[in-house]
Amino acid sequence: MRVFKSVWQHYTPTPEIAWLLEQFRQMLNDCIRIGLAENVTSLKSLSLKAYRQLSGYDLASYHKLCAISAATGILRNYWEAKRKNPCVREPYARRPRLTTCYGFKVRDGELSLPIHAREHIRISLNQHVQATINDFTVRSVTLTEGRLSLAYESEAQQVQPRGFIGIDRNLDNVTVAATDGTVQRHDLSEATRAKAMYLGVRTHFKRNDARIRREISGKYGQKQRDKVKQILHHASKSVVREAKSKQYGITMEKLTGIRKLYRRGNWQGRWYRGRMNSWSYAELQRQIEYKARWEGLPVIYVHPHGTSSRCSICGQKMKPEENRTLRCPSCGYVVDRDVNAARNILAAGTLRFGVVGLTSEAMVAEPASVRQSAKSMRGS
Ligand SMILES: [Zn+2]
Repeated sequence: MRVFKSVWQHYTPTPEIAWLLEQFRQMLNDCIRIGLAENVTSLKSLSLKAYRQLSGYDLASYHKLCAISAATGILRNYWEAKRKNPCVREPYARRPRLTTCYGFKVRDGELSLPIHAREHIRISLNQHVQATINDFTVRSVTLTEGRLSLAYESEAQQVQPRGFIGIDRNLDNVTVAATDGTVQRHDLSEATRAKAMYLGVRTHFKRNDARIRREISGKYGQKQRDKVKQILHHASKSVVREAKSKQYGITMEKLTGIRKLYRRGNWQGRWYRGRMNSWSYAELQRQIEYKARWEGLPVIYVHPHGTSSRCSICGQKMKPEENRTLRCPSCGYVVDRDVNAARNILAAGTLRFGVVGLTSEAMVAEPASVRQSAKSMRGS
């Protein structure tokens, strides 16, 4: 199975690179405009309609193909979003960003990228990037104004899972329940603080100038996202390391947009808070998924229906009690609500994978140990 990872570094764009990025941005917007006007959904029809119109750009044809392909992806997302919400804004690329999978070379610590038909630009790669990609094949390059990112490929041996872990993400933690009955919790309150700090910075800018606000939120937004990403990397790394050591597959909830956040009763505030939050939920899943695939561990998504409200022993609706616990009126089970959710996610994934015996085995040993671990976690 082919799997991918990526690594990035800072770089200083020369005027030539800045020009390339800006040209690419304009091409991308041309393609989007054509696609919108002609209701295009497929790469083939967008190529037919747009390629000739890009002839005015003095760029290597690789970049034209990549702009068309990127526009196709953007258009597909747009049509999909529009089906659910007819007022969704039409796509338009504001920031320069170029992704290409053709024509580049990585050699002698340098990335060489075509710019015009027979002309290349070079960017030197730092030690960390060189060491990271050393044994692998680089498949794509992404450039933004100050960052260069390389996606590299490997062949992973698919692991036949001996069990699963179920992952429940909350505002302040990730709770992981495993087939062997163990529960682990990774603290994410630092990420929440980073988000809160960012929101604090933003509220100082009350000026009613949308353009200024956008720039500010962009700059601080990037810093804040980097900080949160870094915190999530620690959590996702240790989740996947644990799963790998036990040879367990991974089960997560399918994200269903912003509703999940309301359901939890968290951050009921402003729209962008919800956006921030759902971004970090998705980011954690993205990290766990690519790290797990890299190790050959299967990753399954299950529907979140009832995971936080149903008893993980008997399936009845539970009642909330103090200290984030739930009580089941039917079987009397009292459990930390995050642990209960992680158990339900684990059970759904295990059933889906067809390892039916595993769930019931794990559940026999469950109540005492879970109650214990939930209690000790609350105490900490
Ligand atoms: Zn019950």
